[in-house]
Order: sequence, then C-alpha cells, then structure tokens
Amino acid sequence: MDGLLRDGEGAERVLIDPAHETPLTPFREASADQVSQAVASAASALPIWAATLPTERAEVLHRLADMIARNADDLARIEATNVGKPLSQARRDVGRASDYFRFYAGVCDKLNGETIPLGPDQTALTVPEPVGVTAHILPWNYPISTLARGVAPALAAGATVVAKPSELTPFTALEVARLATQAGLPDGAFNVVTGGGEIGAALAGHEGIAHVTFTGSTATGRKVMQAASSPVAGVTLELGGKSPVIVLEDADLDAAADGVVRGIFFNAGQVCAAGARLICARSVHDALLAKVAAKAHAMGFGDPLDDPHIGPLISSGQLARVEGFVARAKAQGLTCVLGGARVDRPGFFFPPTIFADVPTDAEIARDEVFGPVLVTHLCDDAEDALRIANDSPYGLVAGVYTRGHDTALWLARKLEAGQVFINGFLTGGDTVPFGGVKHSGIGREKGLAGLSAYLAPKSIILNHARPT
Ligand code: NDP
Repeated sequence: MDGLLRDGEGAERVLIDPAHETPLTPFREASADQVSQAVASAASALPIWAATLPTERAEVLHRLADMIARNADDLARIEATNVGKPLSQARRDVGRASDYFRFYAGVCDKLNGETIPLGPDQTALTVPEPVGVTAHILPWNYPISTLARGVAPALAAGATVVAKPSELTPFTALEVARLATQAGLPDGAFNVVTGGGEIGAALAGHEGIAHVTFTGSTATGRKVMQAASSPVAGVTLELGGKSPVIVLEDADLDAAADGVVRGIFFNAGQVCAAGARLICARSVHDALLAKVAAKAHAMGFGDPLDDPHIGPLISSGQLARVEGFVARAKAQGLTCVLGGARVDRPGFFFPPTIFADVPTDAEIARDEVFGPVLVTHLCDDAEDALRIANDSPYGLVAGVYTRGHDTALWLARKLEAGQVFINGFLTGGDTVPFGGVKHSGIGREKGLAGLSAYLAPKSIILNHARPT
C-alpha cells in the first residue's frame, strides 16, 4: 500500500504447504480499515497515473514484465510451494504473468477514441478515460496469472488497483506489487490487501471502487455482484464451469485422449475451464476411455518442486470437497473406472478419477467438482452431443474433436460457451478473449477485449456553427 509493505492489522494466519501438510511462515492479514486505506491510496495515485504519458506507462509495464521474467525462478518456487502445483506449471504461470504485462504495455499508446459524423455543424469524439480505482478479487488456483490478467490491462488503461488474492495464496501478489514499485509505478497505483471473504466483501462494496474483477465460484460471484451494486461499480465475473469435450466417431482418438487428459487433470483439475464432461460417440467410447485411463494412470505424484505430473489439491477443505463428490457418486451406484480414493501419502493428493457412462442429471455430472474428476456421457451423433453439452447451467469453454469441418463449425456456433476449441483443448493462449456465458460469468478478459472493463469512453460533442 502506498508503495510500501505494511504489516497486516487483521488476524494471524498460518497457511499449510499442501504437499507436506506442514505450516508455512505465519503472517497477519489486512483489516477492514486497511481495505479503506488501500482504496484511498489507489484514489490518490489515480490522477498521477492517469496523467502519465501513454509511452511512459508502457515503459513502466515493460519494466515490470522484465522484472517478473528475471525473478521467474523465485516466483515459481513460491507459487509451487504455496499452491502445490508442479514447478514447470508454476514457471509457465509466471511466464504468462510477465506476458500479460508486456502485451498490455504495448497497447498503452494505442487506446484510440473515435469520431462520429453528425453533419456539418457538429462533431462528436470519444476519449477513452480510465474507469477509476479497480478491485481485483482473485482465486487460489492460478494466483499470479489471474492477478496479471486483470491488473495489467487496468494499469495500461491508466486505472489504479487494489488486489485481494485468495487467503490461501497471497504470496506472489505481494511480490509482484513490490516489483511494480521498483519498476517505477507511482506509489499507490497498485495495492494488495490480504485476507479472506470479509476483506473481499469490504473491497467489492467499497464506495471508492469503480470496477470489480472477480474470479472464483458462481456463488461468491453473485455476492460480489450484489456488493458492487452499492458503489454502482462495473463487474467482470469469471466464474465456474463444467465444460464439455465432445468426441465424435470420426475423431483422431489419440489427439482427443491427449486433450481430455490435459483438460481435466492439469493443475489437479482445479481449473475453471477444466473439460470435466467427456461426451463421446457411443461407437468409440470404450476405445477412447481406455486411452484416457492409460494416460491418466501413468501420471505421477510428488513434491511440486520435483515437478511431478500432478500435485496435491490446495487444501484439506478442497480434498474433503472432492472426496465428498466421489463418495456420493459411488453411493449412487455410478461406475468409477479409475482412481476414486485419496493417495496414501502425506499431502492433499487425489488421483485422476473417472466415472464412465454417467446419467446427465447426476450431481457429479452437473456440479463443479474442481478436482481431477472426469465423467463420461455417451452420445449418438453431433446433435445429441450438442443437447447434452448445452444441458448445463454453465457456459465457459467447450471442446470438439471431429475430422468433419462443417460439423465442427456447426457445433462451435451452437455450443453455449464463451470459447470453443476445435481439435484441441485449452489452446490459443492469453491474447484471445476469454470469459463465460450463463452461470460462468460476465465480461471478457485477455486480449484487447480485456481492456474495455477499465476504460470509460467520454463523448465530447463539438458544436461549430458556420461563420456568418
Ligand atoms: P470463492 O469464490 O469463495 O473465492 C474466490 C475469491 O473471492 C477469494 O479471493 C475469496 O476470498 C473471495 N471471496 C470469498 N467470499 C467473498 C465475498 N463475500 N465477497 C468478495 N470476495 C469474496 O472460491 P473458493 O476459493 O472458496 O473456492 C470454492 C470453489 O470455487 C471451488 O471449489 C471452485 O468450484 C470455485 N473456484 C472457481 C475458480 C475459477 O477459476 N472459476 C477459482 C477458484 C475457485 P478467500 O478465498 O480469501 O476467502
């Protein structure tokens, strides 16, 4: 806050290393008063940062991107230890964070307005102004990359920031804020407050906030939206999902198996866009399932710093949540063909788990588990697959595997999702707009689309009557 690392004035917290179940260094979280101080700090930096020349803003963000890249090893080790993710995946997340700052640095001096023709006596023009102080409420599954995904476009737009990382994963956000100060960001332009849901609620409903960017569960997203109605702030909500992967009869089954395994078991399934529902043509279901199960079975566990295929879940609470879903599915008589019980070693490890040929109305087929649990459904043809895929309250992403280009495009247009992958899954990178429909959210992040939340275009109408 104000460019300085301040001691928290809230409760003491001891986080647990999820791979070893041992305590990490204790720290004090922020208090509700400190949320107000952070918003005031961001408000006082706003006129300074908004008036900074676009090329200078770009230089600062480029420097920050460089500094994140230079500190990648340290940041990745912090992230891997705190979240439990394999080191190479943590490195990739840190690289993505650096890339976000570099991408948005490049647009600082390209935020053009427009002119609107109104006839000979008037001209209207728009000036894209920064929206104001922005709040960023973040999840624990991708702490550093979701931080950068929102903070970089906000800063590029000339807005200022108060970020609240998840209470489980505060460390890399604090590090990035420290680096931002060293990179030359004005004091107060980028603040981080640590703490749990109460701190998030205080931030989302704060009168000084103009926009809230939230990533997390749909239930909390609703609360954030409600809280943000008090300051009449805008919201970007990146919420949960239960994303379908459709595999048709003519698909390349090896490619599909790769995509399915990566889509649901990467980051131990703790991914909002995880491909949690495999909807497969009846005729190839068993052959594909055998390939998926073989690949999943071969995934090794281990210390995140030793870079295993799969790390632990984030917490004992998340492990209990996943175990609960799996136990209820088994009690319902559903067929578990792989995994299904926690791994017998210290740490919150849960193995890749697959339930085959699950009724589409089963709890495990409808609710977001947020763990390494795949369900499969059988379909007759593309139309049947579409019906099953769209029968969900969620609409984040979807995948389609088929060699038929017409069918692929037909499905892509009909699928209720913010992003559709054809013959691949979770591809495309961070310059492509991302966000959901239905209960998966509002608004778009990433790419140029990710800027609009942080810009308030002002229209100016010039009346220029003809000289007499
Ligand atoms: P939440 O949605 O509860 O948390 C996301 C963020 O919101 C955290 O920073 C959290 O703080 C904060 N928060 C909690 N309550 C409030 C509130 N009333 N007002 C404002 N902010 C608040 O997710 P969880 O971390 O509890 O995870 C639960 C489930 O959410 C997961 O199992 C998964 O299904 C889903 N999830 C989805 C994610 C996605 O990427 N779409 C990411 C993470 C979770 P804190 O955590 O510090 O309490």
